[in-house]
Amino acid sequence: MGLIETRCSQAPLAADPLALSEIVENGLCIGCGLCRSIASAGDVEMVMTPEGRERPVALRALDKPILARINAVCPGTRIAGPPPAQITEAALADTVWGPVERLLLGSAGDPTVRFIGSGGGTLTALGQFLLSSGCVKFVLHVAASRSMPMRSERKLSFDAASVFDGAGSRYGPAATLVDFNDILDRGEPFALIAKPCDITAVRNLARLDPRVDEHMRYALAFVCGGASDLTKSEQVLQRFGLSEDELTLFRYRGHGNPGLNRIETRDGRAFEISYRQLWEDEDKWMIQPRCKICPDAIGQVADIAVSDAWLNGGPAVEDEPLNSIIVRTKRGLELFDAAVEAGVLQIKRESDIAEIGELQSHQVRKRRAVWARLTGMAIAGKPVPSVTDLALRDCALQNSPADNLAEGRGARDRARRGRLGEPPAVPR
Ligand SMILES: Cc1cc2nc3c(=O)[nH]c(=O)nc-3n(C[C@H](O)[C@H](O)[C@H](O)COP(=O)(O)OP(=O)(O)OC[C@H]3O[C@@H](n4cnc5c(N)ncnc54)[C@H](O)[C@@H]3O)c2cc1C
Ligand code: SF4
Ligand code: SF4
Repeated sequence: MGLIETRCSQAPLAADPLALSEIVENGLCIGCGLCRSIASAGDVEMVMTPEGRERPVALRALDKPILARINAVCPGTRIAGPPPAQITEAALADTVWGPVERLLLGSAGDPTVRFIGSGGGTLTALGQFLLSSGCVKFVLHVAASRSMPMRSERKLSFDAASVFDGAGSRYGPAATLVDFNDILDRGEPFALIAKPCDITAVRNLARLDPRVDEHMRYALAFVCGGASDLTKSEQVLQRFGLSEDELTLFRYRGHGNPGLNRIETRDGRAFEISYRQLWEDEDKWMIQPRCKICPDAIGQVADIAVSDAWLNGGPAVEDEPLNSIIVRTKRGLELFDAAVEAGVLQIKRESDIAEIGELQSHQVRKRRAVWARLTGMAIAGKPVPSVTDLALRDCALQNSPADNLAEGRGARDRARRGRLGEPPAVPR
């Protein structure tokens, strides 16, 4: 594995692929589940670790060809940006924000979807539109588990009501791709709504498996600040003296923008805290290690990426339902235009790079920091992902040399102390 970003989408793969345990223990795994899906049946299982992370465990030693395949698709070992031609031909291409066909503020046209959705319901509205217009047979996304509502599971939605049921952000672990191979086996057109790293994984697989491009019509992402450990949600339960088996609902947000974190129990009690209360203490965000070195948390390889748009500087209990919408591909633009034409989406106004940079200043900081962080990890002798076509070095050049040095040294020292890694994956 080696850093030093190249500008080639076909970067060579490492001669010695990392074992699953090495991917996990070096803090590169985000728990997407794709490795489980492409390994032979029964060879890999996903477990919930004591830290509250979904992680793969190999049930037998995997042979080199399968490990090479896993390393080629895993979003912890390989992160490729958009094809260079997309950047060249895009209406706009920004070093930090990547290719953009159109950038605007908007939301779902239907007021109920707008209200229930995480921000302005844009992703839910697009998923529903793709189904109702017959473009796809189903949508692969994520929703609360029915039996354990604090946990999140991958969901296949075949109708608008089901997409609606999955609306809202799920901040804990979510193995979206745990049975992706079976999904491809269906041989039906579908859309994926997911985290940017999930989409990176699927785009990686598309280079090896033609069924991805044949069947996946659209990949829609949200802009992502990082996935928390389940332990983060468990802390909320502790605050109210609750245990997980009492729950019938655990909603992080939505039902307003951002809406309340709401918990309901079998005996009819309800508990709420605001979004600000949920995230007030940054030391307790419990963001997974892979997120801290995420080269593309802004969905550069999606057709459309959607983010929050809090125009008053940050979330209150009840803001105007709204999203920033970054249309990234020509295919995404066709979908977006058709959705607006059908009244499924409504436009508030055009936006621009300066505005999204201000609304998402933490994403700008991260894009500029990741090159130095990965370099620091590599200097510490740790494996780092192969990153291509994401302009990481150019983003870093927007920092002062002193800032890059501090960022790189910090990562190097944390890596040497083992603070960027994880314990071996074991089930709780
Ligand atoms: C972990 C996480 C971190 C985020 N960080 C940021 C951020 O830094 N900046 C920002 O602007 N926005 C962030 N968001 C996105 C934001 O909360 C909204 O989801 C986004 O603006 C889209 O809003 P919407 O109203 O269109 O979503 P909705 O219409 O509610 O649709 C959301 C869709 O995302 C899917 N989904 C939810 N959680 C997950 C998950 N964990 N994995 C895969 N799919 C999922 C749902 O199934 C649903 O289809 C984050 C969301 C999550 C889950
Ligand atoms: S990131 Fe996904 S593919 Fe990579 S090891 Fe983790 S679960 Fe497997
Ligand atoms: S920050 Fe990056 S790695 Fe973490 S969940 Fe978001 S997209 Fe995935």
